[in-house]
Amino acid sequence: MYRCTSAQAVVLLEAGSLFPATTAIVGLPSMMPVTEYQFAVAVAMLCGFMVGSFLNVVIYRVPRGISVVRPRSFCPACKAPIRPLDNIPILSWCLLRGRCRNCHAPISPRYLAVEALTGIAWGMVTAWQLQGITLSVSKSLYDHIPQLAALLILVSALVAAGGMIVDRVTS
Ligand SMILES: [Zn+2]
Repeated sequence: MYRCTSAQAVVLLEAGSLFPATTAIVGLPSMMPVTEYQFAVAVAMLCGFMVGSFLNVVIYRVPRGISVVRPRSFCPACKAPIRPLDNIPILSWCLLRGRCRNCHAPISPRYLAVEALTGIAWGMVTAWQLQGITLSVSKSLYDHIPQLAALLILVSALVAAGGMIVDRVTS
């Protein structure tokens, strides 16, 4: 049985205040060493933000029959290519205040919402799936990867489908 030291318990409580929504749903993780658990959730969240950025491309292009690979990201209003620095999930939308750098046309808040939602969903699914895991027992972290991956693909598909429906209804 894994018992946490008082120092780890403090980290545990801090994790609860950092991710209140997550810990409210999954409960405090008590088995896996806290730092690795937090790290895994944080990495999943960052990956989720980047996947959300790609889902925005999918949501815009798939219903229009445009390839999701080429051409590179462009502004739907002026068709100007989007520079890599203006394509950072969440951050770029906020820094540009939801407007194209080139033509100042408003960029739908859907882009921000899909990125944020995907990141939060990835973080929460990972927190849920990895809670209670110890790396020392026979069932290793890697045994949980297939189910975790399947769930992450599922939530991403749901976000993409939801985004296409919202786009269709609102445009
Ligand atoms: Zn533009």
